[in-house]
Amino acid sequence: MSHPSSEFAVRNPILPGATLGVLGSGQLGRMFAIAARRMGYRVHVLSPDSDTPTGQVADVEVRADYLDLDAVASFARGVSVVTFEFENVPAETAAAAERHAPVRPGFHVLHTTQNRLREKTFLRDAGFPVTPFSPVRAPGDLERAVAARGLPAVLKTADWGYDGKGQKTLRTPADVAQHGPAFAGAEAILESFIDFECEVSVIVARGLDGQSVAYGPLWNEHRNHILDLTTSPAALDPKLAAEALEIALGVCRRLELVGVLCVEMFVGRDGRLMINELAPRPHNSGHYTIDACVTCQFAQQVRSVCGLPLGSPRQHTPAAMANLLGDVWSPGPPRWDAALAFDQVNLHLYGKLAPRPGRKMGHLTAMADTPAAARERAVAARAALLATGS
Ligand code: AMP
Repeated sequence: MSHPSSEFAVRNPILPGATLGVLGSGQLGRMFAIAARRMGYRVHVLSPDSDTPTGQVADVEVRADYLDLDAVASFARGVSVVTFEFENVPAETAAAAERHAPVRPGFHVLHTTQNRLREKTFLRDAGFPVTPFSPVRAPGDLERAVAARGLPAVLKTADWGYDGKGQKTLRTPADVAQHGPAFAGAEAILESFIDFECEVSVIVARGLDGQSVAYGPLWNEHRNHILDLTTSPAALDPKLAAEALEIALGVCRRLELVGVLCVEMFVGRDGRLMINELAPRPHNSGHYTIDACVTCQFAQQVRSVCGLPLGSPRQHTPAAMANLLGDVWSPGPPRWDAALAFDQVNLHLYGKLAPRPGRKMGHLTAMADTPAAARERAVAARAALLATGS
C-alpha cells in the first residue's frame, strides 16, 4: 500500500476516534496512550510482553515478537498510524508495518538513531557539534582510536545503548587492555571523555507540515549514567540557551522528522555545546511537561503523528522531575503518603510489578516559584518516600 503524500495527509489528519498503534510497551508508550485516550483516540500496543505499562492503559495489547512479521502486519492493518516508544525497533518490523500504515517518525530516522556511529556521523557531516569520536570496527581500531582521541575516553557499543548500558570509561592504558576485549566482535565507538559543565536536553516536536515547537533547554543530572533529576527552565546563559534550541530545531529539520525528538547535549567548560545523543521519541527529561506545560510532550507526539497542529509548549510554572528507580523500594515499601503531603508534587507510577534496582518505576514532578526551589522540593519529596524503619 502506498501512503498519501504529506500534503494530502496534512489536509486529512487522523482525527480523534481513530486508532493509533504503538510499538513498545514501556512507560513512554503508557504516557503516550494516556495522552491519546484523553483526546478520544483508541490505542493498540504491540510488544513481546503482557500486562505492560502501556498495555495496562491501551485498548488492545498484542503480545508478539517484533520479528513476527505476520503479527506486525495484522497489527498495522488495524490502526491509522504506527509510532514507537523506543528506537530499537528492528528494521524489518518497521518495514512490515509501513506496508499497511504510515510509520511516524519514518524508518530513516530510526535507522540513523539506532546506531551511535551512524548517528554521530550524520550529525558531524551535517555540521552539528558532536563529541569527538572514532569508529572501532576491526582488531587494531581501538588502539588507533585511543592514540587519536587520547585518554580518558568512553568506549560504547554502537548498537543497543541507553542509560550507560554497553559503555565503559577508559582512563589508563591498563583499562584499554582490560575492557577492550569485551567490546571486540561488535561495532563500537570511542568518544573523547567530556569534562562537562552540565548536561542539557532540548525536546522538539515537528508536525507533518514542518511546524516545530521546542521545550528547553532542560538541565539534566545523571547518577550512574541514568537520568536522576531534570530542572526546567535550566539556569543557562540566554545566548547558549538560544544556541541549544537552534541546534535541536536544525537536527529535526535535517532529519525531516515527524514526531518528537530529544537532543541531549553536553555544555563544555569552555561554554561549547556538543550533542551526545538523539532519541526520536518523547524523553525522560520531558516528563515535567505533563504537569508544567500547556501541551505535554506526549500530546505533541499524538498531534504530530496524526498530522494535527501542534500545541503550545509554554511552561506555566518552574518545575523539576525526580526519577523513582527500583532502588527506592529497597528499604521497604515507599511512603507514598509522605511524598504526597508535599505542596505542588505530583506522583507518576508506571505500573511495573518488580522494583529492580536501576529500573525506572515512576517519577515525581515538583513545582515551585523558582526552578531551584522546584528541584529542592522534588529531592525532598523523593527522600520522604524512603522507609526509614521507624
Ligand atoms: P549515553 O548512554 O551515551 O546517553 O550516556 C549516559 C551518560 O553517560 C551521559 O548522560 C553522561 O553523563 C555520561 N557520558 C556519556 N558519554 C560521555 C562522554 N563522552 N564524556 C563524558 N561523559 C559521558
